[in-house]
Amino acid sequence: MIENDFQNQNTFTIIPLSEGSFTVDKTKIFQPFEINKDHLQQRPVGSLLVEVQPFVIITSKDILLIDTGLGFSKNGELQIHSNLKANGIQPDQITKVLMSHLHKDHAGGISKMDKLGNYHLSFPNARYYVQQKEFEFAMETGFPSFMSEEISVLQNHPQVEWLNGDGMIDNSIQYHITSAHSPFHQVFWINEGNHKLFFGGDDAPQLQQMKNKFIAKYDFDGKKCMELRQQWWQQGKAEGWTFLFYHDTKTPIFEAQ
Ligand SMILES: [Zn+2]
Repeated sequence: MIENDFQNQNTFTIIPLSEGSFTVDKTKIFQPFEINKDHLQQRPVGSLLVEVQPFVIITSKDILLIDTGLGFSKNGELQIHSNLKANGIQPDQITKVLMSHLHKDHAGGISKMDKLGNYHLSFPNARYYVQQKEFEFAMETGFPSFMSEEISVLQNHPQVEWLNGDGMIDNSIQYHITSAHSPFHQVFWINEGNHKLFFGGDDAPQLQQMKNKFIAKYDFDGKKCMELRQQWWQQGKAEGWTFLFYHDTKTPIFEAQ
């Protein structure tokens, strides 16, 4: 890693924006969970313990945001806005918002409601990168997995770049549809100099799932998720990727080597 930095001045700044730990069960309600105080056994059977954690990536060109959190507000301010400001970043400085998929724990911060009850995109100067079919699927499916009202503002919005299938943004951000965790879920590789950063969204949500063979019931195609994780893990270790884990309570960033 030191060698890489030496060869190449270009690198990322990565800022995880944790919104806390939660348990989630069949009801798909996210219940706050304090690791030092609460006990997983006291939550409904089958509850999963997850972090909810969007990431800011500062590259030479952009201030990227990857996924947008739950969209909860405190004192009238979106949590993702206060978390950004706590890191010295204003919401209007975000240049691109990359969306892995539109489940409510990833897309809640896409928009915010004004006093009249109208929704506006919460990053006024950003381009939003969303798979067209994911949006259609989300609007069709709705509650409780998706919050149609919060995401409906994307429709016909001039700030949205509708993606169809696989491709590349600005020659540096690669996106790929996996149809694994959800039918139109996409993952991203962000390239800067020699560095490759990988965001697998809910196809690869936690470090432990990369290391163990594990098929999750909540995935659209659990077997495909597992196979992809193994493939990415092998390739990532061979090529020294930096992995970002949206739902990992302990290891949001992992440098593979
Ligand atoms: Zn999801």
